[in-house]
Amino acid sequence: MSSESLAVKGGWVVTQNPKREILKTDILIENGRISQVGKVGKADEIVDAKGCAVIPGLINAHTHIAMTLMRGIADDMNLGGFLEKTFRVDALRTPDDILLGARLGAIEMLRSGCTSFVDMYYGQDMVAKAVQESGIRGFLGWVVLDDKFTTQKGSPLANCGNFIDGHRDIPNVHPFAALQGVYVCSEETLLKAKDLAYRKDTLLHIHLSETRKEVYDHQASTGKRPADWLYDIGFLSDKLLAAHCAWLTMNEIRRMAERGVSVAHCPVSNMKLASGQEAPVPEMQAAGMPVGLGTDGCSSQNRLDMWGEMKTCALLHKAQRLDASMMPAQRVFDMATAEGARALKMEKDLGSIEPGKIADLAVIDLGNPAMVPTFRENLISNLVYSCQSDCVRDTVVAGRIVMKDRKLLTVDQSEIAEQAQKSSEKFFH
Ligand SMILES: [Zn+2]
Repeated sequence: MSSESLAVKGGWVVTQNPKREILKTDILIENGRISQVGKVGKADEIVDAKGCAVIPGLINAHTHIAMTLMRGIADDMNLGGFLEKTFRVDALRTPDDILLGARLGAIEMLRSGCTSFVDMYYGQDMVAKAVQESGIRGFLGWVVLDDKFTTQKGSPLANCGNFIDGHRDIPNVHPFAALQGVYVCSEETLLKAKDLAYRKDTLLHIHLSETRKEVYDHQASTGKRPADWLYDIGFLSDKLLAAHCAWLTMNEIRRMAERGVSVAHCPVSNMKLASGQEAPVPEMQAAGMPVGLGTDGCSSQNRLDMWGEMKTCALLHKAQRLDASMMPAQRVFDMATAEGARALKMEKDLGSIEPGKIADLAVIDLGNPAMVPTFRENLISNLVYSCQSDCVRDTVVAGRIVMKDRKLLTVDQSEIAEQAQKSSEKFFH
């Protein structure tokens, strides 16, 4: 956290406040938080944002950051073949590979203006290290599954508890328990993880109803669809963030909404793996559920890019419903910012540019050809349909500038890319 004051001056501030105001003004940041949105006088450091938009840092609500090293390793194959290939490669991986993959992923996200990510993996102590080095904000879920299914040493639940205890006071690190899915988690494991989340007061994350097979298999073994079953065993709660949710009935949506469950929608991953035709996001939103956007891991999405995710989200729902008014730009931008924060139960701290919030921001160059012309009237549309990572000029996390003029200030990008290229060779050959 920065103790000095920082002013971001003269940009179009996309506040994402309740009125969704866009203001041509300044932002003052003190002690890592936004203290003022309005004309600012002096500050220790000044970022000139003239000709730029200033947006809340994007929130990636579901990924597996360390899988960057597996980019492009299992493309154009169905989920069965994909999982077989990725599990095989997974077994070759060392803790150093997890650290390196997380370093590379943090760089890719910071360069795209993404300041927060929700991760699900084992070896989160290594990911936490990459978070600290790079200056990004990580919501790090240690994977929990039944002891009989895991390759982790010791019990996943105990490992997860130790991880949370050891990392809860580290700045920008938010540790929690992440359940792999109902296909490898018994009722006992699920309820113990829920109990852990309540005892430690953390988020709880799960993969839910990603594929039709998951739903059919669960129905065959329990007589119930996964979300219905989770409701009946008392697992659903307002601490839960469920990723995918591509195959839900209206009854499941009602029950999840009733319990305050949030969702991380991953349209690119669902489309690329042909695992979910179209998650019923409009219905979830109509039921009041907070829905964020996630890229999922690099072995299925290939990029940790929230710009592509936003555009795909809008296009998918329009195309599926044959309705161009579906998922308008403002709603999709909300999913990557304010609604993403709500999905993480972090709406008091993240997701908008308002006094009191943590200063996680990105500065977008409106002079980039992809962003011309931009006016107040089409700014949100341009962000969702036209913006890309190379339009992001600066990234700020908790008031600290981590990327300035497209150069990362915290880590050596070319060295990490070179190491990642070398270390990944064993997965491919
Ligand atoms: Zn996932």
